[in-house]
Amino acid sequence: MVFGIVQGGVDPHLREECAKALVQMNFDGYAIGGVSVGEPEPEMMRAVEITEPFLPPNQPRYAMGLGTPAQMVELVARGVDMFDCVLPTRVARNGTAFTRKGSISVKGGAYKADFRPIEDDCDCFACRNFTRAYLRHLLNVGEILGLRMLSVHNTRMYLRTMEEIRASISAGTFAEYRREFVTNYVPTQKVLLARAAIGER
Ligand SMILES: [Zn+2]
Repeated sequence: MVFGIVQGGVDPHLREECAKALVQMNFDGYAIGGVSVGEPEPEMMRAVEITEPFLPPNQPRYAMGLGTPAQMVELVARGVDMFDCVLPTRVARNGTAFTRKGSISVKGGAYKADFRPIEDDCDCFACRNFTRAYLRHLLNVGEILGLRMLSVHNTRMYLRTMEEIRASISAGTFAEYRREFVTNYVPTQKVLLARAAIGER
């Protein structure tokens, strides 16, 4: 599939002009580019909001380089279908795991004797086989398996979130799902910093 990438920053006129010109070229789908480049989150959301009305409703929309789990839920609410992001594996390599309640720094002393999986209801290989305490040990002695297992968990967590979003849309309960997800999800400073680093890259 070939996608046209809508640019134009947070300028509504440039976004409109770019989107309309691309739609005339009849691509398979349309990407919203020029987001996640270090701008504050409200500006990123605004860039998506001003672009979306000009994209065909029956073709896929792709938000480039986004985002956290909570941002994905919010962007789906704004009409986005597809994402790509380094965040799940990048923060994993810093020892951070995403959960429904936000992210946790598995390296921290708080998990020294925590014999639960990263997330109780997660079906990933890491959660089925290892405790937080053991993963913490791996991370703190520099054993690469720890980083791999956090990457496995974070990637699965993202996929599960999208699976749940699709199911809730089909069931007509997305608004409820969105409210509950965003209420429970608390982003940490560490992830905010990682997001800023991605923007600066
Ligand atoms: Zn898991």
